[in-house]
Amino acid sequence: MTAQALSQLLGPLGWLTGPDAAAHSRDWLDRFGVPPLGVARPKDTDEVAATVRICSEAGLAVVPQGGNTGLCGASVADREEAIILSLSRMSAIGEPHSGGGSVTVETGAILASVHEEMARRDLIFPMHLGAEGSARIGGLIGTNAGGSHAFRYGMMCDLVLGLEVVLADGTVWNGLREVQKDNAGYQLRKLFCGSEGTLGVVTRAVLRLHPAPKQRSTALVALADLPAAVAFGNHLRGEASEFLSGLEFFTDIGLGFVLRHLPDIGFPLETRAPAYVLVELTSSSRRVPLDAILEDELTWGMERGFVVDGAIAMSQAHRDKFWKLREEQPEGQRLEGAQLKHDISVPPGRIAEFVDVGSNLCAELMPGVRVNAFGHLADGNIHCNLSPPPGATDFSGMNSELGRALVALATDMGGSFAAEHGLGRAKIALAKTFRSAVERSLMSSVKDALDPGHVLNPGVLIGPRQ
Ligand SMILES: Cc1cc2nc3c(=O)[nH]c(=O)nc-3n(C[C@H](O)[C@H](O)[C@H](O)COP(=O)(O)OP(=O)(O)OC[C@H]3O[C@@H](n4cnc5c(N)ncnc54)[C@H](O)[C@@H]3O)c2cc1C
Repeated sequence: MTAQALSQLLGPLGWLTGPDAAAHSRDWLDRFGVPPLGVARPKDTDEVAATVRICSEAGLAVVPQGGNTGLCGASVADREEAIILSLSRMSAIGEPHSGGGSVTVETGAILASVHEEMARRDLIFPMHLGAEGSARIGGLIGTNAGGSHAFRYGMMCDLVLGLEVVLADGTVWNGLREVQKDNAGYQLRKLFCGSEGTLGVVTRAVLRLHPAPKQRSTALVALADLPAAVAFGNHLRGEASEFLSGLEFFTDIGLGFVLRHLPDIGFPLETRAPAYVLVELTSSSRRVPLDAILEDELTWGMERGFVVDGAIAMSQAHRDKFWKLREEQPEGQRLEGAQLKHDISVPPGRIAEFVDVGSNLCAELMPGVRVNAFGHLADGNIHCNLSPPPGATDFSGMNSELGRALVALATDMGGSFAAEHGLGRAKIALAKTFRSAVERSLMSSVKDALDPGHVLNPGVLIGPRQ
């Protein structure tokens, strides 16, 4: 009956079943997801509201889905009595509001499309991540995505000024304000950022924009070790803080994976080294000598033995190559074989210490395990991903022990085990161990208040209803 009502409401373009729905049913890493009753693809907010109302009355779970690139299994169903609510037909991108400080978009818009549209108007929406060709604004809000520019411009919750949300009973909250300053009560818009589709379906968003930089200087730097990379990054922040828009790191292990499996990318420096940093400076003024600042920094690092080699990009193609080496780290490791992914953050000054101690802990548990640490140097976000020893095809049943050792270490160091990807279904057990009962109970209270019937993405973030 419910399927019939949804089919009638949404029409053939808006209600998919069978093989058409199957394409939406598994997550990016192919770890989670059962075939749902169907996939709803509403064309506007009214249809989203009517869809949620029908499901809510029928006790059918609703799983919001964006680009399905999430890494914690939150965008697919865990039961057949569920629908996936895809925002893919709601992808309109408006004209920037007067002054170019913000723009209203439908949340099915793909991130890369928002970039392209804003670039034509000399504006930027400064959220960047490896999945930007597929990830949609609703999913980025749902996970409160971070990415490579978060340390300068903030995470998704800092880039969203207003939201329109369909609540669990089908009510629409219109909070599409364009102002940064709005303290008229709780910060409701921020509550939905990172809520992983468990509190409401975000249908439209007002995104914060910035003027496009007029110049850019990018360097790839090879460093003596990870502590040297951290020291180099700290010095750069002191010397070029307001111009720094990218500060990423990876190691020679990850570089090896990329060059072995994606050889076309190539390595643009003469010397291999234990660690690499990718630096990007940008400015909206042409008068700032960005290249000279970077050259000074390279000299400073070489004089102290931190920097082994380095190059400043001479063209956009050169720059793209530098970024590819960093962005293809996950793909290089995926092509290497089995892997365990971790999304950890520690205070930025302690990255090297974390990787050193963490690698030793992992080696004790599984001799020969390969620790591929890469990520966002400026905000301490480390994707500390493991590959089994060369020749091994899996982790010999040690998956949880290895993960828990790293998570316990990050927690002891004052960090997080879910820095930018969320909890989803994958990390609920970790939350039970590593987050206090008080914190978890606060979250359950919020869920119960906004979605008493647990219609929206049940099982995600909070876990099964007690
Ligand atoms: C190669 C690669 C690189 C990545 N790099 C990064 C990175 O650097 N930083 C980072 O933060 N993440 C990264 N990710 C993870 C992923 O891209 C982000 O989590 C992204 O925000 C997910 O967007 P999506 O549209 O694919 O969302 P989905 O995977 O479809 O959904 C993610 C969550 O949002 C919810 N959701 C989706 N749409 C809505 C909506 N309209 N309203 C309410 N809830 C909704 C879903 O229910 C789910 O809980 C990467 C992923 C890949 C594959």
